[in-house]
Amino acid sequence: MSVNEQNYKAILAKTETAGATLVAVSKLKPVSDIKALYDLGQRDFGENYVQELAEKQPQLPDDIRWHFIGHLQSNKVKYIASFVHLIQGVDSERLLVEIDKQARKNGRIIDCLLQVHVAQEETKFGFDGGEVTALLGRIGSGVLVLPNVRVKGLMAMASFTEDADQLKQEFTAMKALFEKSFKPETSDLKLQTLSMGMSGDYELALECGSTMIRVGSLLFGARG
Ligand SMILES: *Cc1c(COP(=O)(O)O)cnc(C)c1O
Repeated sequence: MSVNEQNYKAILAKTETAGATLVAVSKLKPVSDIKALYDLGQRDFGENYVQELAEKQPQLPDDIRWHFIGHLQSNKVKYIASFVHLIQGVDSERLLVEIDKQARKNGRIIDCLLQVHVAQEETKFGFDGGEVTALLGRIGSGVLVLPNVRVKGLMAMASFTEDADQLKQEFTAMKALFEKSFKPETSDLKLQTLSMGMSGDYELALECGSTMIRVGSLLFGARG
């Protein structure tokens, strides 16, 4: 099997010690690899592409929790709305509104994370801190009514660098935004998830307060 069992056990142990959740990122990997990791006990899997996820999901056990971690186009929400467990990369209000609509059609409430742009790289995806605060304010005050989505937290991708100081600065900024954004006593939003950390930086992310890491290549090997 082409799953690295030793890495899996080691990463899982570190994740559990930190009280966090490990999402195994299986994009571009075959169903047989996912099944192999499933047989070792893994239940949370992350995928980046709608069509790929929609094809894999029916071939695999029903108790897998599928996380959508890529950029999601509004017109594709309908293909995953019936089964997706957590949509992590919500990067616009328009997308959130569409998820609410598709969730309602399926008689579900879909959990979402807002993607925050913290990295140095230029990207068109993700909110900045001020936009997160504004959007949560509109939901919390009932200006924006989305009964079929639950915003459970934040997701971020740090800079693509080995500079530990830079990464630490970004993770720490995310943690601060996470804690500031959701004050349970003043808001009925339950912010429970801070998703950050990948194969190259998950240990540092856990140290900085991540509650969910997304690890692919250390578990399944390099992609393509
Ligand atoms: C691919 C991907 C990951 C996993 O990356 P690895 O470096 O293989 O662990 C995590 N998060 C997102 C959003 C990704 O696209």
